[in-house]
Amino acid sequence: MSSPRKLIIAIDGPAGAGKSTTARLVAQRLGYVYVDTGAMYRALTLAALRRGVPLEEEPLAELARQVRIELRPSADGQRTLLDGEDVSDAIRLPEVTQAVSRVSAFPAVRRILVEKQRELGKDGGVVMDGRDIGTVVFPHADVKVFLTASLEQRARRRARELRQQGVQVAEHEVARELALRDRLDSERSDSPLRPAPDAVVIDTSELSIEEQTERVLALVYERQRCNRAQG
Ligand code: C5P
Repeated sequence: MSSPRKLIIAIDGPAGAGKSTTARLVAQRLGYVYVDTGAMYRALTLAALRRGVPLEEEPLAELARQVRIELRPSADGQRTLLDGEDVSDAIRLPEVTQAVSRVSAFPAVRRILVEKQRELGKDGGVVMDGRDIGTVVFPHADVKVFLTASLEQRARRRARELRQQGVQVAEHEVARELALRDRLDSERSDSPLRPAPDAVVIDTSELSIEEQTERVLALVYERQRCNRAQG
Protein backbone atom coordinates (compact mmCIF):
# COMPACT_ATOMS: atom_id res chain seq x y z
CA MET A 1 0.00 0.00 0.00
CA SER A 2 1.36 3.46 -0.83
CA SER A 3 2.09 5.71 2.15
CA PRO A 4 -0.64 8.28 2.78
CA ARG A 5 -0.23 11.83 1.49
CA LYS A 6 1.49 14.04 4.03
CA LEU A 7 -1.02 16.30 5.66
CA ILE A 8 -1.03 19.83 7.03
CA ILE A 9 -2.37 19.85 10.56
CA ALA A 10 -3.30 23.22 12.07
CA ILE A 11 -3.56 23.61 15.83
CA ASP A 12 -4.76 26.99 17.06
CA GLY A 13 -5.96 28.31 20.37
CA PRO A 14 -5.17 30.65 23.25
CA ALA A 15 -1.99 30.53 25.33
CA GLY A 16 -1.73 27.67 27.79
CA ALA A 17 -4.36 25.42 26.19
CA GLY A 18 -1.77 22.69 25.60
CA LYS A 19 -1.13 23.42 21.92
CA SER A 20 2.63 23.07 21.86
CA THR A 21 2.83 19.85 23.89
CA THR A 22 -0.01 18.27 21.93
CA ALA A 23 1.30 19.43 18.56
CA ARG A 24 4.78 18.13 19.38
CA LEU A 25 3.49 14.71 20.40
CA VAL A 26 1.19 14.44 17.39
CA ALA A 27 4.12 15.31 15.11
CA GLN A 28 6.32 12.73 16.83
CA ARG A 29 3.71 9.99 16.44
CA LEU A 30 3.22 10.74 12.76
CA GLY A 31 6.87 11.38 11.92
CA TYR A 32 5.90 14.92 10.93
CA VAL A 33 7.70 18.20 11.60
CA TYR A 34 6.42 20.35 14.45
CA VAL A 35 6.34 24.08 13.75
CA ASP A 36 5.68 26.50 16.62
CA THR A 37 4.80 29.76 14.88
CA GLY A 38 4.59 31.69 18.16
CA ALA A 39 8.37 31.23 18.39
CA MET A 40 8.77 33.37 15.25
CA TYR A 41 6.79 36.28 16.71
CA ARG A 42 8.75 35.86 19.92
CA ALA A 43 12.13 35.85 18.11
CA LEU A 44 11.25 39.05 16.29
CA THR A 45 10.12 40.64 19.57
CA LEU A 46 13.39 39.61 21.22
CA ALA A 47 15.39 41.14 18.36
CA ALA A 48 13.42 44.40 18.68
CA LEU A 49 13.93 44.59 22.46
CA ARG A 50 17.64 43.86 22.19
CA ARG A 51 18.21 46.45 19.50
CA GLY A 52 15.91 49.06 20.96
CA VAL A 53 13.72 49.09 17.84
CA PRO A 54 10.47 50.98 18.54
CA LEU A 55 7.46 48.68 18.73
CA GLU A 56 5.80 50.31 15.73
CA GLU A 57 4.73 48.84 12.44
CA GLU A 58 7.32 50.08 9.94
CA PRO A 59 10.46 49.65 12.08
CA LEU A 60 9.29 46.16 13.08
CA ALA A 61 8.52 45.15 9.50
CA GLU A 62 11.95 46.41 8.46
CA LEU A 63 13.52 44.36 11.24
CA ALA A 64 11.51 41.29 10.19
CA ARG A 65 12.97 41.64 6.68
CA GLN A 66 16.52 41.99 8.05
CA VAL A 67 16.77 39.23 10.65
CA ARG A 68 17.05 35.52 9.91
CA ILE A 69 14.59 33.52 11.98
CA GLU A 70 14.97 29.76 11.64
CA LEU A 71 13.00 26.96 13.23
CA ARG A 72 14.98 23.71 13.48
CA PRO A 73 13.32 20.44 14.38
CA SER A 74 15.08 18.89 17.40
CA ALA A 75 14.68 15.97 19.79
CA ASP A 76 12.72 18.16 22.20
CA GLY A 77 10.51 19.64 19.48
CA GLN A 78 12.02 22.72 17.96
CA ARG A 79 14.93 25.11 18.42
CA THR A 80 14.61 28.73 17.40
CA LEU A 81 17.55 30.53 15.83
CA LEU A 82 17.90 34.26 15.42
CA ASP A 83 20.68 35.16 12.98
CA GLY A 84 22.28 31.82 13.81
CA GLU A 85 22.06 32.19 17.60
CA ASP A 86 19.97 29.67 19.53
CA VAL A 87 17.40 31.83 21.33
CA SER A 88 14.99 29.03 22.33
CA ASP A 89 15.24 29.99 26.01
CA ALA A 90 15.56 33.76 25.60
CA ILE A 91 12.27 34.00 23.67
CA ARG A 92 10.42 32.72 26.77
CA LEU A 93 11.64 35.61 28.97
CA PRO A 94 8.80 37.59 30.62
CA GLU A 95 9.73 40.81 28.80
CA VAL A 96 9.29 39.04 25.46
CA THR A 97 5.98 37.50 26.54
CA GLN A 98 4.74 40.91 27.62
CA ALA A 99 5.57 42.61 24.32
CA VAL A 100 4.84 39.88 21.77
CA SER A 101 1.12 40.50 21.30
CA ARG A 102 1.80 44.09 20.47
CA VAL A 103 4.37 43.11 17.85
CA SER A 104 2.18 40.39 16.31
CA ALA A 105 -0.80 42.72 15.85
CA PHE A 106 0.87 44.67 13.01
CA PRO A 107 -0.30 43.51 9.56
CA ALA A 108 3.06 44.31 7.90
CA VAL A 109 4.85 42.09 10.43
CA ARG A 110 2.33 39.27 9.98
CA ARG A 111 2.64 39.32 6.19
CA ILE A 112 6.37 38.62 6.41
CA LEU A 113 6.14 35.87 9.01
CA VAL A 114 3.09 34.20 7.44
CA GLU A 115 5.00 33.91 4.18
CA LYS A 116 7.80 32.06 5.99
CA GLN A 117 5.25 29.79 7.67
CA ARG A 118 3.61 28.90 4.34
CA GLU A 119 7.01 28.06 2.94
CA LEU A 120 7.73 25.75 5.89
CA GLY A 121 4.44 23.89 5.50
CA LYS A 122 3.95 23.83 1.75
CA ASP A 123 4.98 20.18 1.25
CA GLY A 124 2.79 18.91 4.09
CA GLY A 125 3.95 16.57 6.85
CA VAL A 126 3.68 19.38 9.40
CA VAL A 127 1.85 20.05 12.61
CA MET A 128 1.77 23.82 12.96
CA ASP A 129 0.64 25.57 16.11
CA GLY A 130 -0.38 29.20 16.41
CA ARG A 131 -3.38 31.51 16.42
CA ASP A 132 -4.28 31.84 12.73
CA ILE A 133 -3.01 28.67 11.09
CA GLY A 134 -6.44 27.28 10.19
CA THR A 135 -7.91 30.69 9.33
CA VAL A 136 -5.13 32.49 7.47
CA VAL A 137 -1.84 30.61 7.06
CA PHE A 138 -3.36 27.36 5.75
CA PRO A 139 -7.10 27.88 5.27
CA HIS A 140 -7.11 24.56 3.36
CA ALA A 141 -5.28 22.60 6.07
CA ASP A 142 -6.30 18.92 6.11
CA VAL A 143 -7.04 18.86 9.83
CA LYS A 144 -7.93 21.93 11.90
CA VAL A 145 -8.09 21.83 15.65
CA PHE A 146 -8.85 24.66 18.05
CA LEU A 147 -7.65 23.79 21.53
CA THR A 148 -9.08 25.75 24.40
CA ALA A 149 -9.41 25.48 28.18
CA SER A 150 -10.69 27.58 31.06
CA LEU A 151 -8.51 30.53 32.04
CA GLU A 152 -8.09 29.01 35.50
CA GLN A 153 -6.84 25.72 34.13
CA ARG A 154 -4.52 27.37 31.64
CA ALA A 155 -3.00 29.57 34.35
CA ARG A 156 -2.50 26.55 36.59
CA ARG A 157 -0.69 24.65 33.86
CA ARG A 158 1.46 27.59 32.82
CA ALA A 159 2.44 28.34 36.44
CA ARG A 160 3.41 24.70 36.92
CA GLU A 161 5.53 24.78 33.76
CA LEU A 162 7.29 27.94 34.93
CA ARG A 163 7.93 26.44 38.37
CA GLN A 164 9.53 23.42 36.72
CA GLN A 165 11.88 25.85 35.01
CA GLY A 166 12.71 27.38 38.40
CA VAL A 167 10.57 30.51 37.97
CA GLN A 168 8.32 31.17 40.97
CA VAL A 169 5.06 32.83 39.96
CA ALA A 170 1.66 33.34 41.51
CA GLU A 171 -1.16 31.71 39.56
CA HIS A 172 -3.27 34.88 39.59
CA GLU A 173 -0.40 36.82 38.01
CA VAL A 174 -0.13 34.22 35.25
CA ALA A 175 -3.93 34.36 34.77
CA ARG A 176 -3.76 38.11 34.37
CA GLU A 177 -1.01 37.91 31.77
CA LEU A 178 -2.84 35.17 29.82
CA ALA A 179 -6.13 37.09 29.88
CA LEU A 180 -4.45 40.23 28.60
CA ARG A 181 -2.67 38.34 25.80
CA ASP A 182 -5.94 36.56 24.85
CA ARG A 183 -7.69 39.90 24.65
CA LEU A 184 -5.03 41.52 22.47
CA ASP A 185 -4.81 38.43 20.22
CA SER A 186 -8.60 38.14 19.87
CA GLU A 187 -9.39 41.81 19.36
CA ARG A 188 -6.75 42.71 16.78
CA SER A 189 -8.18 43.41 13.34
CA ASP A 190 -5.66 41.34 11.35
CA SER A 191 -5.96 37.55 11.85
CA PRO A 192 -7.61 37.60 15.27
CA LEU A 193 -7.55 34.49 17.42
CA ARG A 194 -10.71 32.56 16.64
CA PRO A 195 -11.61 29.07 15.49
CA ALA A 196 -11.93 28.51 11.74
CA PRO A 197 -15.56 27.64 10.87
CA ASP A 198 -14.46 24.10 10.01
CA ALA A 199 -12.14 23.60 13.01
CA VAL A 200 -12.87 20.95 15.61
CA VAL A 201 -12.93 22.68 18.99
CA ILE A 202 -11.51 20.62 21.84
CA ASP A 203 -11.82 21.86 25.41
CA THR A 204 -8.78 20.45 27.21
CA SER A 205 -9.75 21.61 30.73
CA GLU A 206 -10.50 18.05 31.83
CA LEU A 207 -8.18 16.17 29.47
CA SER A 208 -4.71 14.79 30.01
CA ILE A 209 -1.99 15.45 27.44
CA GLU A 210 -2.29 11.84 26.28
CA GLU A 211 -6.06 12.26 25.78
CA GLN A 212 -5.59 15.49 23.84
CA THR A 213 -3.00 13.84 21.64
CA GLU A 214 -5.26 10.84 21.00
CA ARG A 215 -8.18 13.09 20.04
CA VAL A 216 -6.11 14.95 17.49
CA LEU A 217 -4.61 11.73 16.13
CA ALA A 218 -8.11 10.27 15.74
CA LEU A 219 -9.00 13.25 13.49
CA VAL A 220 -5.83 12.72 11.48
CA TYR A 221 -6.51 8.99 10.98
CA GLU A 222 -10.07 9.75 9.97
CA ARG A 223 -8.80 12.20 7.40
CA GLN A 224 -6.30 9.70 6.05
CA ARG A 225 -9.10 7.11 5.75
CA CYS A 226 -11.23 9.57 3.76
CA ASN A 227 -8.30 10.42 1.51
CA ARG A 228 -7.67 6.72 0.85
CA ALA A 229 -11.34 6.11 0.11
CA GLN A 230 -11.28 8.95 -2.40
CA GLY A 231 -8.21 7.40 -4.02
O1 C5P B 1 2.21 30.51 21.08
P1 C5P B 1 2.86 31.62 21.90
O2 C5P B 1 2.14 31.87 23.18
O3 C5P B 1 4.32 31.41 22.08
O4 C5P B 1 2.68 32.91 20.98
C1 C5P B 1 3.17 34.15 21.40
C2 C5P B 1 2.36 35.25 20.75
O5 C5P B 1 2.63 35.29 19.35
C3 C5P B 1 0.85 35.13 20.86
O6 C5P B 1 0.34 35.65 22.08
C4 C5P B 1 0.38 35.96 19.66
O7 C5P B 1 0.39 37.34 19.95
C5 C5P B 1 1.47 35.71 18.64
N1 C5P B 1 1.12 34.70 17.64
C6 C5P B 1 0.34 35.09 16.59
N2 C5P B 1 0.06 34.22 15.57
C7 C5P B 1 0.53 32.98 15.61
C8 C5P B 1 1.31 32.52 16.70
C9 C5P B 1 1.58 33.42 17.72
O8 C5P B 1 -0.11 36.24 16.53
N3 C5P B 1 0.29 32.14 14.58
